[in-house]
Amino acid sequence: MKFSAVLLRCEMLGFFKDRHRRRLKARPFPNEWLKIIKNNVAFFVRLSAKDQAELLANVQVLLDEKNFEGCAGVEITDEVRVTIAAQACLLLLHRKTDYFPRLLTILVYPSTYLADEQRPVTAEIWEEGKAFRAGETARTMGSMVLAWDAVTWGAADPSDGKNVVLHEFAHQLDYENLAADGTPALATREQQVSWQRVMRTEFASLRAAEETGIPTLLDTYGATNAAEFFAVTVEAFFERPVMLRAQHPRLYWELQQYFRQDPVEFSTERTRTA
Ligand SMILES: [Zn+2]
Repeated sequence: MKFSAVLLRCEMLGFFKDRHRRRLKARPFPNEWLKIIKNNVAFFVRLSAKDQAELLANVQVLLDEKNFEGCAGVEITDEVRVTIAAQACLLLLHRKTDYFPRLLTILVYPSTYLADEQRPVTAEIWEEGKAFRAGETARTMGSMVLAWDAVTWGAADPSDGKNVVLHEFAHQLDYENLAADGTPALATREQQVSWQRVMRTEFASLRAAEETGIPTLLDTYGATNAAEFFAVTVEAFFERPVMLRAQHPRLYWELQQYFRQDPVEFSTERTRTA
């Protein structure tokens, strides 16, 4: 097929995909689903009415496009699907999005599980061992694993700094520009340059803090590599925005530019620490 014909075909597919998504977004949001979100996903009621509506519209698309599979006895109910999708869609607000295009299937296990893990001891030495995991995903796997108990803990407490759904879906955002390098698809070259400069410095200081044992706001799991650093900062951005902005203002600014959101506006962090 000629290049121009391929291009035309892609444009047509894009047109039909966009039209289908617009129709899904315009569908009335099921009341039962809204009840689940209000019960399970604590941040939702703190969003503005406009953001709530945008998030619910995105949930309709995400649930239409992704498969869910229950593993080790988990039954995929509306509660499971909607609780996961509502949290994932927080990452999509205010941005043109292709709904985590590299992700096809979400596998849900009942609880956190033991998995092989490599962690850096120094920059050169890595140790291997077993660690409890709440989820995982990879650039080429097309799937994501989530532990249902961790999903519900993350949804119920919006300011403890931990949210496995935000973490794993942040990895998927990282993969949108094909590399798993901790840099999502940024709009301009200036943004890329600024992002790289800030993230490199912040990553180095988290690594140094982990080696010396200095307590950090960011989870030191982020010292593993640049991809984990990004996922950990996304958790902190949405869950501990007040502290992150105070302690890492440049990092906060970069994330704010990318996500086009200021989570300080809806965070429960202040009331938690007050
Ligand atoms: Zn990760």
